[in-house]
Formats: sequence, structure tokens, C-alpha cells
Amino acid sequence: LTVGVRREDEPGERRVALTPDGVGRLVAAGMTVVVESDAGTAGWFDNNSYAEAGAEVVTTGELYDRADVVLSIGLVPPERLRAGQAVVGMFAPLRQPGYAADLAARGVTMVSVDGVPRTLSRAQTMDALTSQANIAGYKAVLVAANAYERFFPLLITAAGTARPAEVLVLGAGVAGLQAIGTARRLGAVVRAYDVRPAARGEVESLGAAFVELASVADARGEGGYARALTEDEQQAQQRELAEQVARHDVVITTAQVPGRRPPLLVTADAVKAMKPGSMVVDLAASPLGGNVAGSEPGRTVVTGNGVTVIGADNLPATMPTAASAAYSRNITALLLHLVRDGALAVDTGDEIQAGVVVTHGGAVVHAGVARLLE
Ligand code: NAD
Repeated sequence: LTVGVRREDEPGERRVALTPDGVGRLVAAGMTVVVESDAGTAGWFDNNSYAEAGAEVVTTGELYDRADVVLSIGLVPPERLRAGQAVVGMFAPLRQPGYAADLAARGVTMVSVDGVPRTLSRAQTMDALTSQANIAGYKAVLVAANAYERFFPLLITAAGTARPAEVLVLGAGVAGLQAIGTARRLGAVVRAYDVRPAARGEVESLGAAFVELASVADARGEGGYARALTEDEQQAQQRELAEQVARHDVVITTAQVPGRRPPLLVTADAVKAMKPGSMVVDLAASPLGGNVAGSEPGRTVVTGNGVTVIGADNLPATMPTAASAAYSRNITALLLHLVRDGALAVDTGDEIQAGVVVTHGGAVVHAGVARLLE
């Protein structure tokens, strides 16, 4: 089996799907690895390190010609791929089912790592959503601390005492919990809120206080995720959150509901009520909108009342070395699970495969994605 590692082409994307360490693992399992020249250079994995690990560094044309399986992070232009080839990446097929339809029509097998069943313990090493969300949560705090023009920790010096920053984290999933831990390590006073009651214990175990809202205490959904709130619940939540937001110096938002646009938690009025010099980092910023009114990926706005609103944009790509190393581990574990006797053994009866295999044999085989395309 020849596995190809492509160079990502999205602007600002500096990660690579497989690191030299991953090459070693796949070669040891009997696979041939070809790497597009400079695939890892932006994350400080140079061509030599791939060659030393046992890969062959090839041109772009050769990569797509020779690879049976192309490893990627972002979308691969469909015209690059051919029938019988497989592509592995983070393709968010529930958000962009059209891409899956396109690949199915070309006879390409699509494996999307973001479909790994997250609560299955034997799939944890394959969980790239978690590994990348961890990085995003960590980096969000550093971005906030860097832009915040006061200290995070309590500092007592001859020049006076600085009080610690008060940080509010909204959404305490993987990214939110990492943000809480990171802000605590910087010495901030941290509070956090989530609609899943199970989050309370996790928040408290990190030394943060759990914020309870009277309006929405429990919005558990399927598979351990949150459900979307009703219109009434959402408005009540926004009103109650506005009071909390106004009391904090730094607000980091991470709330997501699978398959939906991110919920709006911080309204324009809530931002207006914040103190001058305070900060909001919206990790959920997306082209469809985020958790904060008016936030856009990659854009920083200072409002008329002096509040800095930062729309995060692919934060894992700003730590490409760590993010690639983790992703490479995830994708290697997944590939070793999918390959039997030197070939991809597609079997959607397997729980992990049912989640990740989206197209195969010219059809969309993933039930959830197929439903969206009906
Ligand atoms: P996510 O990215 O879908 O959402 C982030 C957080 O936003 C979640 O905690 C969610 O409850 C919260 N949220 C959604 N709507 C909200 C609202 N209106 N107000 C406030 N908060 C809101 O979630 P995730 O980080 O990917 O994790 C989802 C769940 O999966 C968590 O329970 C997590 O612990 C669990 N998980 C388990 C494993 C595992 O068992 N191996 C691995 C990863 C995640």
C-alpha cells in the first residue's frame, strides 16, 4: 500500500497530516510512504527528516499518481483524485456534504477523521477533533493574554499590586477545559459555564468555579453533546450571560452544537456592557457566525466602548509542530485500523468505520451524510 502525504494549500494552514515519526510507524507496518516536497516545511518538518524516516520525497504530480491513500488535513481538490484512490482528512462532511457527493461521483473513497466515535475508548488515539480542540483551547488563552493589556496573575510588587484577571469560559468541552487549565496556570481567576451538567465536575476539578444559570441548566443532547436551545431558552440564556460577561475581563467562548451554526451566547448589548480594556476571544467564529455577535474568523475588532473582540481562525494551524504531531498520531492509528493485509479493508459494519468512511465504491455510504443529500 502506498500512502501519500500532501502539502496543504489552504491559506495560513501550516500543519501536515503525517510527521516523520508517523512515516516510521507506517513503514514499520509494511507501507510505502511518499511525501510531496515541502509538505511539512511550514511546521518545521523538512524533506530530509522525511527521507531519514523512510519516506520518498516526490513532486506534486507523482504524489497523486502513486498514492493509493492520500493523507490530508483540509479538502483536496477533487480533480486531483482518481477512481479507486482513498483520501483521509478532516472534511466535516455533515457541514459540506456536496464535497462527499463529488468524491463519490469520482469513485474516490473518503475517510473523514472527524467522524471517529468519540466515546469509544479504543478510538481515543484516533480522535483528531479532540487533539486539535486541545490546541485551540490552549492557544485561545495565549491570544487573549497577549492582547490583554494587564496581568493575568496576582502580582504584588514594590510598584503596587495587580489583581488577577477574571476569565469566563463559555462552553466547557475539550477546548473550553484546556482554556480553563491554561488560564489557571497563568494565574487568572476562572469561571466557566456549559449546558451539560456533567461539565460542572470537570470545571471544578481544574480549579475554576462553575457558573449556574437559572434559565438553562441542562441541555444534554445525543452522544454526550449539547442540544440546540429553543428560541426562548436562547434569549433567556443570553440575558443571564450578559450579566456574567460584564463582570469579567476576558471571555473565551467555545460552544458548539453538532451539525448546527454555533449558538449566539454573547450579544452586541452584552459586549457593550463590558468594561473598556476587556477582551473576548471567540473560538467558535465561523463564516456562519460564532458565539459572539459580529465576530468573524481571523478578524479583530475594538468596539466603540474599548472591548477587543477576536474571532479565532484555525488556531491549531498557528502551532503546526504540536498540532501536526498529534494529528499524525491520530491518523496513523486510524490507518492501522483500516488496513488489512496491505490494503484498505472497508467494512462499514465496524463501529469506527461506520463513522469515518463517507464514500466508497462510487456511493455515499455514511448514513448521516447520505440523508443530507437526499
Ligand atoms: P463541542 O465542540 O461540540 O462543544 C463545545 C462545548 O460547548 C460542549 O461542552 C457543549 O456542551 C457546549 N455548548 C453547546 N451549546 C452551548 C450553549 N448554548 N451554552 C453553553 N455551552 C454550550 O464539544 P466537544 O468539546 O467536542 O465535546 C463534546 C462532549 O464529548 C463532551 O462531553 C466531551 O467531554 C465529550 N468527549 C468525550 C471524549 C471521550 O470520551 N474520549 C472525547 C472527546 C469529547
